[in-house]
Amino acid sequence: MHFQHRPQLASLKPYPPGKPIEEVQREQGISEVTKLASNENPYGPSPLALNALADHLHELHLYPESGCYYLRRKLAEKLQVAPETLFFGNGSDEIVALMTTAFLDDKTSIVCSEHTFVRYEMGAAAMGAEIRHVPLRNWCHDVDGLLAALDDTTRMVFIANPENPVGAAIPASEVRRLVENLPSNVIFVLDEAYYEFARGWDEYPDSISWLGDFPNLVITRTFSKAYGLAGLRVGYALGNPEIWNIVDRIRPPFNVSRMAQEGALAALDDTAHLERTVSGNRAGLQYFYTEFEKLGLEYVPSHANFVLVDMKRPAPAVYESLLRHGIIVRPMGIYNLPQHLRISVGLPRENEILVAALTQVLHS
Ligand code: PMP
Repeated sequence: MHFQHRPQLASLKPYPPGKPIEEVQREQGISEVTKLASNENPYGPSPLALNALADHLHELHLYPESGCYYLRRKLAEKLQVAPETLFFGNGSDEIVALMTTAFLDDKTSIVCSEHTFVRYEMGAAAMGAEIRHVPLRNWCHDVDGLLAALDDTTRMVFIANPENPVGAAIPASEVRRLVENLPSNVIFVLDEAYYEFARGWDEYPDSISWLGDFPNLVITRTFSKAYGLAGLRVGYALGNPEIWNIVDRIRPPFNVSRMAQEGALAALDDTAHLERTVSGNRAGLQYFYTEFEKLGLEYVPSHANFVLVDMKRPAPAVYESLLRHGIIVRPMGIYNLPQHLRISVGLPRENEILVAALTQVLHS
């Protein structure tokens, strides 16, 4: 049987997620598996979120509030923005997908960096839009290059800051230079999924304070990383309510589940969990840097909760060997980096397990 579909989908492939722990347990016959592949929070979910979920389980027969009323109010107060500035999604992934669907078609283009989070171009490709990749410069977004890639067809520019899969971030002055030089009808999506890990850097932008200056600025963030709620799927974006008025027309009703709203609401109060996560991550990165240097491996210093490491050999073989040790990391072939692995920071013990196994694999 042959089903007709939009021709734009012909060359698309599904998003390749990190390998699940259960799959490695089955395939390798190993019970203890360490996953350092999807930039998840190794400290687990916020305990306050867990309590809130338990308190609300008996409401599961009810649809959630579609507009995330309480979460919206609380987050608006915390971030000191008007509630209508916020838009919520089933992960920030959904917000990117809804925006590309709302604003792109086959006569338009997007501009983004070469090794960047693949969901931007997947969303654009699904709409038949042209994707203009700009090489990174010293592993950082090249603002001049991004600006030079624009033309009359460009509707959206995407950068992740910090960048995934690279981990590098660009300073406030560079982000500002980019947004200041964009035509005001080009939507600038500034993806801050790793914001909580990066904000300690004194040059990291306070991008929310720019929203009033740039009606085309959209900032996306998530509860998946530092808040440890990746399994609940809840992300948010800040931007011009006129943009949300358009995107809301294609938002599925109840796109943020009742549990996701309750979990996120409680996690916002869990400063202890957040601090443990961020300081544990900082220590984990330092440990990785020291150990990678001992192994003679080059890495990109990271502002996020993962690090991109050059294996100086085809990375898939190293990835496979690590799997046999029960460790899941992420080969970067889909990002056109065939010699690199992206390794998420885990708990201290997990980081040690990774380094021990990597040492064995590289010396064998
Ligand atoms: N943006 C970036 C840069 C990411 O790395 C991720 C997670 N892989 C996301 C967005 C999506 O996060 P979520 O959908 O879980 O909010």
